[in-house]
Amino acid sequence: MKTWFFIYFYEDLKKEELGITASNCKYHFLNNYHTLLGNIKINDSFNLFMLILYGIILSVKIIRGFIFFNILLLIVSLSSCQQSPPQHDNKNNPPIPPLLKGGSGERKLKVLTTIAPLYSFTKNITGDLADIDNLLPSGVGPHEYSFSPLDVKKITGADVLIKNGVNLESWMDKLIASAGKEKLIIVDTSSGVKIMNNDPHIWLSPKNAIIQVENITNALVKTDPGHSEAYKNNAENYIQQLKTLDKEIQEEVNKLKQKEFVAFHSAFLYFAKDYGLKQAAVIQEYPEKEPSPKHIASVIDTIRAAGIKAIFSEPQISPKIVEAIAKDLNLRVYSLDTLETGAPYPEWYEDKIRANLEVFKKALN
Ligand SMILES: [Zn+2]
Repeated sequence: MKTWFFIYFYEDLKKEELGITASNCKYHFLNNYHTLLGNIKINDSFNLFMLILYGIILSVKIIRGFIFFNILLLIVSLSSCQQSPPQHDNKNNPPIPPLLKGGSGERKLKVLTTIAPLYSFTKNITGDLADIDNLLPSGVGPHEYSFSPLDVKKITGADVLIKNGVNLESWMDKLIASAGKEKLIIVDTSSGVKIMNNDPHIWLSPKNAIIQVENITNALVKTDPGHSEAYKNNAENYIQQLKTLDKEIQEEVNKLKQKEFVAFHSAFLYFAKDYGLKQAAVIQEYPEKEPSPKHIASVIDTIRAAGIKAIFSEPQISPKIVEAIAKDLNLRVYSLDTLETGAPYPEWYEDKIRANLEVFKKALN
């Protein structure tokens, strides 16, 4: 170390005196530093003083360099944190291995979604780069669904199964067991959504839909890495569209006079919470079960107490009970779509949510 200090001192301060330039000094340092040492009188008190001074300067330089290096490390680690995938990834989902390598001429990824909104989300992410099918027939909702041999075949042919989660697909384990399918990547799109009362109807709020789209994108990017850039770009564009929809709903709901409503079944909890409405009561207490007289009595009390002027039915059903309550209390009946059934296409989700928004605007003004 002493020698090193000395050579530096020599290089900086004595080079002119000894007729040595900086470059050939380094050359000497590397190849023949003993010779250079011999040229300096180490006992000379001035040289010794300069050597100590240089030692201090060099120590400061080293410490400064150390601090700079650590700051650089911190910046690098922070920026790598920012590049990590969205926080909704993998909470309910196991790690996903790549399934297709993405070489030219390789077959398309086969994706099966359970309900129509998930088909709409996935189609917007993949475009024509994957084959997408929806499990539920267009007229059947997830609460009353029982699978057919054709549905078992759909599972057998799929690489990836995209489900809503929150136990909406309570029949799923049986269906997969019937298909005898071992290698199936299952994506739970509810991962990262804040669940309320174990209610599965998360898709009815576009804020949740954005999280579901992110979860689907993460899974597809990992499964089919050859198309990862296209999937990410498409998802980004689609999420922008959903954000526009979200803003539009908020602006319209802010203008509504009445904020409380009664729905047929508890599907609009998330929508109401996210946009400042209140699902004051639901007529059907449990899916697929007739409401009890006691429950109907409490719904009527709520309607009277909140001054509710309209109740909501659903397009796929014509519940006599809704008509009876409306007649008794002189209420108007409107139809809200829970998006549980239908023949989806890419814009289907946005179209249906906007149609519901129009119904809210008519019913709650
Ligand atoms: Zn439902």
